Amino acid sequence: PRITIGMGTCGIAAGAEKVKEAIEKEVLRRGLDLDIDFTSCIGMCYREVNVEVALPNHPAIMYGNITPDKVERIIDDHIIGGQPIIEWAEFQFQVDQVSTIHEIPLMEESKFYINQSREVTARCGRMNPELIEEYLLTGGYKGLKRVLQMNPDEVIEQVKKSGLRGRGGGGFPTGLKWQFTKDAKGEQKYIVCNADEGDPGAFMDRSILEGDPHAVIEGMIIAGYAIGANEGYIYVRAEYPLAIKRLKTAISNAEQHGFLGDHLLNTSFDFQIHIKMGAGAFVCGEETALLNSIEGKRGMPRLRPPFPAVKGLWLSPTNNNNVETYANVALIFRKGVDWYTSIGTENSKGTKVFSLTGKIARTGLAEVPMGTTLRQIIFDIGGGVQNNKRFKAVQIGGPSGGCLPEEQLDLPVDYDSLIEVGAMMGSGGLVVMDETTCMVDVARYFLTFTQSESCGKCTPCREGTTRMLEILTRITTGEGKIEDLYTLEKLAEVMKTTSLCGLGQTAPNPVLSTLRYFRDEYIAHIEQKR
Ligand code: SF4
Repeated sequence: PRITIGMGTCGIAAGAEKVKEAIEKEVLRRGLDLDIDFTSCIGMCYREVNVEVALPNHPAIMYGNITPDKVERIIDDHIIGGQPIIEWAEFQFQVDQVSTIHEIPLMEESKFYINQSREVTARCGRMNPELIEEYLLTGGYKGLKRVLQMNPDEVIEQVKKSGLRGRGGGGFPTGLKWQFTKDAKGEQKYIVCNADEGDPGAFMDRSILEGDPHAVIEGMIIAGYAIGANEGYIYVRAEYPLAIKRLKTAISNAEQHGFLGDHLLNTSFDFQIHIKMGAGAFVCGEETALLNSIEGKRGMPRLRPPFPAVKGLWLSPTNNNNVETYANVALIFRKGVDWYTSIGTENSKGTKVFSLTGKIARTGLAEVPMGTTLRQIIFDIGGGVQNNKRFKAVQIGGPSGGCLPEEQLDLPVDYDSLIEVGAMMGSGGLVVMDETTCMVDVARYFLTFTQSESCGKCTPCREGTTRMLEILTRITTGEGKIEDLYTLEKLAEVMKTTSLCGLGQTAPNPVLSTLRYFRDEYIAHIEQKR
């Protein structure tokens, strides 16, 4: 028998350590022969603490909302008595040749998972992320072994054919980016992984790092081989201590197994990975500010060109992708390009991981094929709005994204369709708002964030965010005028076209999208009706 506790950051925050202690105590007291294991977040943050019980010749049962006082009953009824507790069970996992329990849905048929396509997050919550053996048992490093039989140009060709686009927000074709770095002149080249996830409401990358760190490492090694780089840096924010711990363990295990280091897997290819902790400045998610920060300088964006592919880290050609992109790379080479291109839409291939937060019933992580509609994500997977309130809007893409109203919910989510309606995919944070949310307050909240995170290097962003915030504050305190709305739009236009980096260029998006879809709320504030 085995009992597995969900110990991602969400599980720990909900009390997983106390649940684990209670299980250990009860098992010891009764002298039971039982494996006590842990895993990461399976995506159901709304039901933490999650505990899975697996008995020989029985389907494994996943319980949600477990607290220390429920442990005794799980041990008595389920582990000793062999009777699962139906009312606490969220779903079951089918086991070969074992009949399932009628009253408990299978994981794939449960409400939260039925519309998901868990590929990148397949191992999250299903294995012990600190054991490389479990990664290897589930096809880990198979993609790398295949890649090492190919020449670097073939590898880049495969990435281009896969249609993979950067999951950090911009959606730039990954194969093309790799080609630029490979073609750039320079003896020393670098691979960088952007794990500086800073959008409010976004935690996809943290969950992948905590749940499947080797997938990211494998993707980086493949990129290094393709581009001709032998050193990689993972830039991860210090606020992610568990992700850092699991990455450190994974790097050391990969070194011991010959997947990292000199002559890896007995080839002539060498590759090392270093971890660089960031101090949490939002602008360090911008790739050139991130490079400055790795170099030990203040995290401020650089002028482009030259682009990092030509002059990046210490002015050497550098390829920078985010966590989810590298995890996709490992998957593409394990399962094949044909398989990969069969998922998604014509111009956006594969799946996308979203974090579901705000006033949504089932908060957590959802992975869906590109092209899934926002309605399916929010209502079918997320269970709709909390407390039977009415849906009002969803903020997609963090502070750089936009707020979309109900009319846009049938939009298929891919890179291009979102830009058409004034939003952007961003890294994948979805914040749901209900009928009680004031959209002007939301715009002001995001502007407060970008204004305080602006690095101050260029005038349009430094002054623009400050002036916009002043106007929004004026409007929300009942001192606004109708002319303020035009000033906001004018300022937004200037910032979008003249700011140096993505932070300033996209900071006005929450204001513009709320002005576009919820202008009446601005007017109500100005006319003092709110
Ligand atoms: Fe700094 Fe903003 Fe200019 Fe970017 S746009 S360089 S964050 S001031």
